[in-house]
Amino acid sequence: MNCRELLEEHEVFERVSKAAQQLQLPAFVIGGFVRDYLLKRPSKDIDIVCVGSGIALAEKVAKEAGVAVNVFKNFGTAMLRLGEWEVEFVGARRESYNRNSRKPVVEDGTLEDDQNRRDFTINALAISLNKESWGELIDPFDGVKDLRRKIIRTPLDPQITFSDDPLRMMRAVRFASQLNFDIAPDTFDAIIQQADRLQIISAERIADELNKIILSPKPSYGFKLLFHAKLLHQFFPEMVALQGVESRNGQSHKDNFYHTLQVLDNVAEMSDDLWLRWAAILHDIAKPPTKRFDPRVGWTFHGHEDKGARMTPNIFRRMKLPMDHKMKFVQKLVRLHLRPIALVKDVVTDSAIRRLLYDAGEDLEPLMKLCRADITSKDDIKVKRYLRNFDKVERKLLEVEEKDQVRNFQPPVTGEEIMETFGLKPSREVGEIKDAIKEAILEGKIPNQKEAAWQLMLVLAKEKGLGEPRAGAPKAGD
Ligand code: ATP
Ligand code: MG
Repeated sequence: MNCRELLEEHEVFERVSKAAQQLQLPAFVIGGFVRDYLLKRPSKDIDIVCVGSGIALAEKVAKEAGVAVNVFKNFGTAMLRLGEWEVEFVGARRESYNRNSRKPVVEDGTLEDDQNRRDFTINALAISLNKESWGELIDPFDGVKDLRRKIIRTPLDPQITFSDDPLRMMRAVRFASQLNFDIAPDTFDAIIQQADRLQIISAERIADELNKIILSPKPSYGFKLLFHAKLLHQFFPEMVALQGVESRNGQSHKDNFYHTLQVLDNVAEMSDDLWLRWAAILHDIAKPPTKRFDPRVGWTFHGHEDKGARMTPNIFRRMKLPMDHKMKFVQKLVRLHLRPIALVKDVVTDSAIRRLLYDAGEDLEPLMKLCRADITSKDDIKVKRYLRNFDKVERKLLEVEEKDQVRNFQPPVTGEEIMETFGLKPSREVGEIKDAIKEAILEGKIPNQKEAAWQLMLVLAKEKGLGEPRAGAPKAGD
């Protein structure tokens, strides 16, 4: 196959080719870029391999193009930007591994050596940038055939490939899930056999690949592969524990692993947000530890939403996921995930609606998405009926919010005002009055307005024996 057309599409290749010729270094485009080109997928970085010094080639290209170059001497690589492209350069290398580390001994090598060290046949494809063979596709492992047949396969013995660098097992699943490919049987068998070698890989790298699986079009596929290979068991036991069905007195509960995956796929259809997808993964994570059998009502999972919210930071910390507002967002959705659905069943009071608006605040939309996604059943009619009722709840939420504006609740009387009015220092009483005013608004006892809140403040202060407002203290409306 010849890929001359591709090389003419982007100026980058012409530039690299010229520089390589001047330095007399054979150079090739290799890896993900070639794969994605043949799959007609967009990609943003280009990898160049040359037989010789990758750094020297990068420096030459950078000089001719008048751009800066980043050199990573320890890795023998260099990176530069050409227009919209990030271009990475490396010298062809040969790698040999030692059993206890994923850090190989690296030597200079040929193009063939370099292709041998690549993880999968579809990632080992190279296109020549050299005059005599311009555009020629070099495909020693039938990668093109695997692209056509949609198969992930290692170029060499998979046992050795995975033992050398166990991260490749996560990458195999990641590419399968991103591209909707199968993993070849002998490659998958090797993953099963080597799964526990994942222990030598850092949590950060595992999380990187896991997040790519989560962001793939149908993440359940990747998770099923992780589960069946027992890779998931190495780093996410809480999720493994969701799997399985128990029966007692002829009553069984649903398999929470497959339910969770269904919810995740549903969310994935509605949103590309990684953290909303994480909320789907964790929404029922505490079902196993809260599971009880009660002969009168059957299986229960009381409090799994609160326990799940408490488990969330621990899971994030261990997996080296961010501990900032992203974790807080996931935690909040886990904690609140049952609330909207409860509004479908009951006769809904405005106060219940206001409480949800208040608690969800700015995260109401993603929470509603999660809850819609959580409606799974084999019975389509049932799902449709639930979703219709859900539409009603959503309309009601909009109505009440328009009227009462509690989503971004600002106390109509501030702590400072209370302190000033009664000549108080910061104290428990001040907090209690503020809280009681908020409660009265959410309960619908008073409207969310300053004047009403002010009157209530006066009453509450009297009850607490805080005395009369000081002379000269502010009044409502000041
Ligand atoms: P994407 O950039 O979409 O994640 P990619 O295939 O470009 O996909 P990178 O991680 O950018 O993946 O790696 C670039 C290339 O380097 C791969 O195509 C592959 O040939 C090689 N490679 C990367 N990681 C490994 C690894 N752990 N073992 C062997 N080869 C690897
Ligand atoms: Mg890449």
